[in-house]
Amino acid sequence: MATLSRKLFEKARELIPGGVNSPVRAFKAVGGEPLFFARGAGALLYDVDGNEYIDYVMSWGPLIFGHAQPEIVRELQEAAKDGTSFGAPNPHEVELARLVVESVSGIEKVRMVNSGTEATLSALRLARAFTGRELVVKMEGCYHGHVDALLVKAGSGVATLGIPGTPGIPARVAEQTLVLPYNDLDAFARLAKERGREIACLIVEPVAANMGVIPPRRGYLEGLREITAKHDIVLIFDEVITGFRLALGGAQELYRISPDLTTLGKILGGGLPIGAYGGREEIMDRVAPEGDVYQAGTLAGNPLAMRAGIVMLKQLRQPGIYAKLEALSERLARGLTAAAEEAGTPARLTRVGSLMTLFFLGADPTDWTTAAPADAKRFGSYFHRMLERGIYQAPSQFEALFVSLAHTEEQIDRTIATARETLKTMRWAPEA
Ligand code: PMP
Repeated sequence: MATLSRKLFEKARELIPGGVNSPVRAFKAVGGEPLFFARGAGALLYDVDGNEYIDYVMSWGPLIFGHAQPEIVRELQEAAKDGTSFGAPNPHEVELARLVVESVSGIEKVRMVNSGTEATLSALRLARAFTGRELVVKMEGCYHGHVDALLVKAGSGVATLGIPGTPGIPARVAEQTLVLPYNDLDAFARLAKERGREIACLIVEPVAANMGVIPPRRGYLEGLREITAKHDIVLIFDEVITGFRLALGGAQELYRISPDLTTLGKILGGGLPIGAYGGREEIMDRVAPEGDVYQAGTLAGNPLAMRAGIVMLKQLRQPGIYAKLEALSERLARGLTAAAEEAGTPARLTRVGSLMTLFFLGADPTDWTTAAPADAKRFGSYFHRMLERGIYQAPSQFEALFVSLAHTEEQIDRTIATARETLKTMRWAPEA
């Protein structure tokens, strides 16, 4: 049956590389063709053929209140009437900056940009300028956007598609990035001892969420903080996913650690394109025009993204929000775990707050080496069977499920029942 999605994908492939504007959307890792969506409402998505899905991608994180939240839609309608961009200061930039500084303990000053990639790119440049050093440390399987220096052994689409490194990145650039296993504090301690004086910064997802969800081991983040401080290495928490999700103040609030710089995006923009980087005043004051480190943006701080972000953060300050998100997430995690157990599926569910991954693995993963053997083929089969039954998840074993405040208990229970049914049928399917 030639669905409208299929027709659109055919056309899209003639016009757009791979038919998509971001690689993981293309279903390459799970087989088949991507769906095209017409609209979303709350936790639901509707494809162009009129099918309804419970969505656990949520635009890869930003939509913590669900699709087309009325408060945000109303604000955007109002904002658009006043003009979408001035290329000059507007009061909403000050208000959103104030909310960010009040919410995130490691941020004393913040600069708005247009994507998570821009945020990490800018943070890296700033850390190098501030320290006068060149080397960057990142963890295998962590994804920080498509910055040249950070695509080395990266997670997300790079891991999903098995891309070893990306052509177009000069070897001289890649050589400046040192990669360590996530959760291995000893490896970083050794490296810092040997080369600490050459290392500008260490960038890490405090909760890894781009190789599937992998929680930090107890003491890992504290150890990174201690060692980086000792060697005057700038510690960057990439909270593009975890920011405003694990707590209002992100992972740094949850684990009570203050990094030197923090990168943000996703939730901060209320579903509009955004990114931000911020941190200690002493470092941020090196950014132009206060300081000498150049970074700029035509649409940075535009009133649409600012006003959506303000509405988002104000709503997240309401009491009980994170407790509700935790309860919904815990319900889903418990249900999926039980469903896998009942079906005798070798699976491990990892979770921190509203981020979780059902790994088709026999043991808990702690880093990329232990996550990579997950049965991606089995996942592909699970993914498609869930999709046929109206559950939309990221088309990769190595991504998170995003629970939102728009998901109802009924929708979560329906998801669990669907997973139970799906996993049971998979047990008997030889190709699974
Ligand atoms: N950092 C992290 C932790 C991310 O998950 C992502 C994107 N998923 C980015 C940076 C890049 O953000 P963007 O896609 O907005 O450039």
